[in-house]
Amino acid sequence: MGAKHGSRSASTGGSGKGPAGGSTGGSKDADRRIGRRALIVGGTAAAVGTAALARDELARLWWRVPGVERPREAGAVDYGGARWVAASDENWRRADRPDDFGVDMVIVHVTQGSFASAVRAFQDPGHKAATHYIVGQDGRVTQMIRELDVAYHAGNRDYNERSVGIEHEGFVDRPQDFTDEMYAASARLTAGICARYEIPLDREHIIGHVEVPGTDHTDPGPHWDWDRYLKLVRRAATSAPSPSDSKSA
Ligand SMILES: [Zn+2]
Repeated sequence: MGAKHGSRSASTGGSGKGPAGGSTGGSKDADRRIGRRALIVGGTAAAVGTAALARDELARLWWRVPGVERPREAGAVDYGGARWVAASDENWRRADRPDDFGVDMVIVHVTQGSFASAVRAFQDPGHKAATHYIVGQDGRVTQMIRELDVAYHAGNRDYNERSVGIEHEGFVDRPQDFTDEMYAASARLTAGICARYEIPLDREHIIGHVEVPGTDHTDPGPHWDWDRYLKLVRRAATSAPSPSDSKSA
């Protein structure tokens, strides 16, 4: 979030709750469709004309068929260094990434407020936005949304679906907010995300909110040191992963 310019509240644009398929109708329609297609695919191969389409649909929505959703453990985190605090479920959409949507991007944000205020905002169902992670100036990392799920943080549906969002505690116009501890912790987090989804460690795939098409946000702002950050991410990626970095259920 952060760095709101203009009157829009934090990044709701384009991140509405719809069916995962994108081109399908309402979510109820999608549910009906998946049921029917599941039957078609499960039966004879007669429906040749729609088979490819049905396969695509199933690849994205298979987990919505009762009984096949990936099991989740309450309080589990994707990054061993993170503490779990759940965001309001109004601020994200359930998904099963990377099986339904590929993840090929990390988006860097700045909170424009304290760590605690960001946590509170993401717990607020009225906020309608949240990132997967928040990194504090002291280097602490809180995860609020699973990487499986689509967080509303980019203000762009496509970018939300394909990215992991990280907030950083501070203000875009205060370079002193971007501490060594924060850069280091965030770089380790991003290195882990990029390793999990085989995301290239470059500025095409590790971007700022300001670079998302259609956004009116400016974070992380001119004081965020991209060269330094990328160097730290690459260094973290080549050092041996700590045992606690393993992906949990
Ligand atoms: Zn932002």
